Amino acid sequence: MHNHDKMIDIEEALKRILKDFVPLESENKPILSAQGQILSKDILGQFNVPSFDNSAMDGFAVVSDDTIGSTTQKPSTLKVIGSVSAGEISRQTVKKGTAIRIMTGAAIPKGANAVVPFEETDEVDRKIILEKEITQISIRSETKPGTHVRLSGQDIQKGEKVLSAGTALQAADIGVLASLGYEKIDVIKRPKISILSTGKELIEPGGSISEGKIYDSNSYSVAAAAINAGALPTMLGIAGDDRSEIIQKLEMGLDSDMIITSAGVSVGDYDIVKDVLSDKGKMEFWSVKIRPSKPLAYGNLLRDDGKNIPLIGLPGNPVSALIGFELFGRPAIHKMLGKGETSRPIISAILQEPIYNYDGRKVFSRAVISKKEGVYYAKLTGHQGSNLLTSMSKANGLVICPSHIPVQASGESVDVQMTDWPEEVF
Ligand code: AMP
Ligand code: MG
Repeated sequence: MHNHDKMIDIEEALKRILKDFVPLESENKPILSAQGQILSKDILGQFNVPSFDNSAMDGFAVVSDDTIGSTTQKPSTLKVIGSVSAGEISRQTVKKGTAIRIMTGAAIPKGANAVVPFEETDEVDRKIILEKEITQISIRSETKPGTHVRLSGQDIQKGEKVLSAGTALQAADIGVLASLGYEKIDVIKRPKISILSTGKELIEPGGSISEGKIYDSNSYSVAAAAINAGALPTMLGIAGDDRSEIIQKLEMGLDSDMIITSAGVSVGDYDIVKDVLSDKGKMEFWSVKIRPSKPLAYGNLLRDDGKNIPLIGLPGNPVSALIGFELFGRPAIHKMLGKGETSRPIISAILQEPIYNYDGRKVFSRAVISKKEGVYYAKLTGHQGSNLLTSMSKANGLVICPSHIPVQASGESVDVQMTDWPEEVF
């Protein structure tokens, strides 16, 4: 028995896979298309945001001393010497006894140190009467210096660190970059993943099917999950259970950051992927103590230039393939993306039916998680056969049953790895 023939724990398998992955190099790309990617450098404020003092309200820019003692009963009257709207700069100076009509976002004119909103002047009455150019305004409240003035640098100070390297860019971050004038940004590249299905029974969806054949679903579910994880998949298609065909297809994937195959890794007559790994690179292991997805192979293909291309050989059964990707492919992609070693959210839920674990592997059961009065409940999605892909498509989480527990009884609290949890579960 070779060392790589040993069935290993999931933790060891993940460790041995992740050791081969590092964050990829950076690329410079338009800020919008960098959404979800990881910033490769700190972003500093190149200038103050806002870059000039401006009004927070529609109103009048005044010298605050002019408003002392103003009330509705005893307003103070100021001469209106002009107006300024957002995007304009007033050439006039506000002196004592004068005011400039100002719109939200307009630069505070010279001499002014506060803004009195329309609501605290007779502008509100006036508006109803006529649209005539106004020459004076009654101020109905006292306004302290700085009131309704948004100071330069209030949002971002020049030189200040605004976003840190390692940040996964989200909507508001992209807005912050735009507000600093960035058109493009440096982020860590998305990994390129090549995906190959093996098996002479497989037909490409869209093709005509004959007895004994099935459509290839693994390429599609795994590619979709890879996109979800942040990668760029390339479909290598289908290779029959033929050594030279598999090698020829795999060679087309040698320019990617990782290759993912499905099937051909168990102990059947046609399980060639393992042999190809051994011959054309290095086989690390091919059996993990989990259910489903036990016959999962991992190794590297050696390229002519000496570079090793990691290869995850997923089992053929559709549920096993997807869970194998979830447990090993996704973390590898996240590491290449610069997200570090991530895990899905794990929650506690009350199990609503028993799970039997008859051979000491860690079990991942497909379940629907729902929430009642603040408590999560886990209900299995029916029969758990690893060939039943709908048991996966109905699920939003995987109940984890530890390897040493032979039966996880109904009513017990279990850990659930949430596979689909963009929003709160009810
Ligand atoms: P194998 O690992 O080749 O023994 O395949 C295990 C089971 O998974 C068999 O029933 C295969 O027909 C099925 N299978 C293998 N590859 C795929 C695929 N790409 N799409 C759907 N089912 C598959
Ligand atoms: Mg097969």
